[in-house]
Amino acid sequence: MPDSHKKGIITIAFDDAYQDTYIHAIRYLTGLNIKSTVAVPSSFIGNIFENRRIVGLRELKDIIDSGHEIASHTISHPNLLSLSSKDRKAAIYEIEKSKKELQGLLSCRVESFVFPYIKKNQSRALRLKAEAHYKSARITRNLPCFNKIPLKDPYSIEGFSVMKKHSLSYLNRQIDLAGKKHLWLMEVFHLVGKKNTLSAHRPKPYRYFMHIDDFRKHVQYIISKNILVLTQKEAVKILSTN
Ligand SMILES: [Zn+2]
Repeated sequence: MPDSHKKGIITIAFDDAYQDTYIHAIRYLTGLNIKSTVAVPSSFIGNIFENRRIVGLRELKDIIDSGHEIASHTISHPNLLSLSSKDRKAAIYEIEKSKKELQGLLSCRVESFVFPYIKKNQSRALRLKAEAHYKSARITRNLPCFNKIPLKDPYSIEGFSVMKKHSLSYLNRQIDLAGKKHLWLMEVFHLVGKKNTLSAHRPKPYRYFMHIDDFRKHVQYIISKNILVLTQKEAVKILSTN
């Protein structure tokens, strides 16, 4: 590949693989031939997680066949840091076994790991565990964050968790910034659809929701900027060979 990534890279990621997000957003990207990274907690496949349905095996196979990447997101989506302070072995098991489960269920290679919850819930010791089994690992923040090109550490990739408080113009500006400053921006979406749901943790609307109309407009904006869009796996591959 030529030096197109030097203009910046965008990754579109979906955490938790909600059914609504699959129907509205992932299939929309498939239609545009844009690949995303979908992080799924293996024990919730086809089940309810935080009051929302997660895709089943059939949908996951369609996601893979359409060229998207499936990333490991643990087995049961725990806060790994607090789990490891109580039961270190259980935390390590969540990291290792989720890859094996996904690979067994889906007959695909799983190379990327995504830590559940936000950045402060991770530790260096756990990142080292991810390093033993994956080619990269991502942590998440609730504010825009950019990864430098060239990439310093594929096990400390940061993703920006898009929230409903972030306006479309604000999100579009982050794309501009990635392009102008030649950075890698990983945007992390959770629930993308027509209707929001309640948070599983408090009696309020879910904070990580984006309406599909805004999502489509944002994707069209990315396309109009002619910036490279890669999965986590693809970006890491390109950035570690340059
Ligand atoms: Zn998650």
